[in-house]
Amino acid sequence: MKNKVLVVGAGFAGSIHARELAENGYNVTLIDKRDHIAGNCYDFIDRETSVRIHRYGPHLFHTSNGTVFEYLSKFTKWTKYEHRVVVKINKNKLVPLPININTINDIFNQTFKNEEDVRAFLDKLIIRKKNIMNAEDWLYSKIGKELTDIFYRPYTKKMWGLDLKEVSHAIVKRIKFSFSNEDRYFPNDTIQYLPTNGYTCLFENLLDHENIDIKLSQNFDKSMINEFDFCFNSMPIDEYYDFRYGHLPYRSIKFVHSTETRDSSNGHVVINYSDQSRYTRETWWHNLPKHAEKNNSLYIKTKEIPCDYSENNLERYYPVKTHDDRYGKTYNEYKNINENQIQFIGRCGTYQYLDMHQVVNQSLINIKKWIKSNE
Ligand SMILES: Cc1cc2nc3c(=O)[nH]c(=O)nc-3n(C[C@H](O)[C@H](O)[C@H](O)COP(=O)(O)OP(=O)(O)OC[C@H]3O[C@@H](n4cnc5c(N)ncnc54)[C@H](O)[C@@H]3O)c2cc1C
Repeated sequence: MKNKVLVVGAGFAGSIHARELAENGYNVTLIDKRDHIAGNCYDFIDRETSVRIHRYGPHLFHTSNGTVFEYLSKFTKWTKYEHRVVVKINKNKLVPLPININTINDIFNQTFKNEEDVRAFLDKLIIRKKNIMNAEDWLYSKIGKELTDIFYRPYTKKMWGLDLKEVSHAIVKRIKFSFSNEDRYFPNDTIQYLPTNGYTCLFENLLDHENIDIKLSQNFDKSMINEFDFCFNSMPIDEYYDFRYGHLPYRSIKFVHSTETRDSSNGHVVINYSDQSRYTRETWWHNLPKHAEKNNSLYIKTKEIPCDYSENNLERYYPVKTHDDRYGKTYNEYKNINENQIQFIGRCGTYQYLDMHQVVNQSLINIKKWIKSNE
């Protein structure tokens, strides 16, 4: 048996590291402070309704990275699902998001039929900027002020607690516009699926290895490191160092679940709210494939209220990226602390906004490199 390794966090980052180490003969102890595996991807079937819900918000798997998909396919079967979102812009009006030709026709009362006409129309609305300094500049230069004010300004304020001017354009850049009929939320990703039996089942298979010992409801303590040769740690890096350079802020989300006897989703999985209300979106889980029995008469609707992580039991979801990257600078101070026996991984360990496929990709590259250098 090779060295003993401690892995902190049973999300994708920790679990991929654990699996690869185990496959290569390392003796792995994987701990998580929560009482379940799968990190923020954890899902379960609600007893009352028999509907599968994702405890930490809807997780849609999308990527163009064939290696990541092939790797995860060893641990799950997949069900095809291409995510689509609509936005409620007033009491009864739902329009597609990301903005496409139909959104523009609805908002401006137009009847455009092709991309060229939409582009020519928008060309008169956009405000060109030489230097893109923040999210507002970027949006104005792509879609103009009116669409920005409807779809992004109040939404950004409630999601990030910041005005568009204070937010990095990297955050809004993730959302693609289409001036055709394209209405998929991730139009550029060639691989879009959900694990057929859920994410938790995928993680159970991923972690099913004789060299992995899983300990749940176990908070990391620095004294644990002494019992191991190395530690991969996906806890928040600022917390590990007792916040010596200050706190790295995160946005969090309060999930408000309700059991409904009437399906008023109109077949939509996610309906966003771009208005001033405190909610950002609602999810109707039964509309996701393999999430409910066909003849179920009870439905679960989950509404989301964003907040600072200090208002939600320190549940850290989204690292805050400001236009001046002030927290990125603080993160670098933590990152530059020299450590021989520990490496920080994952969303909170590296203070990055990462989708699942990105965490899997980074983790595979990182652990393979580490194992090679340790041979
Ligand atoms: C609301 C929401 C929606 C999302 N939707 C999508 C989506 O649709 N598609 C997509 O690709 N990605 C989505 N993501 C991102 C996805 O959740 C992450 O990419 C992924 O979970 C990151 O994995 P991780 O291992 O880095 O972190 P996590 O999954 O957060 O796992 C970290 C684990 O470490 C544990 N931990 C932390 N501190 C300690 C400690 N001191 N001691 C012991 N254990 C500790 C935590 O309990 C946690 O289980 C979403 C994220 C959120 C929050």
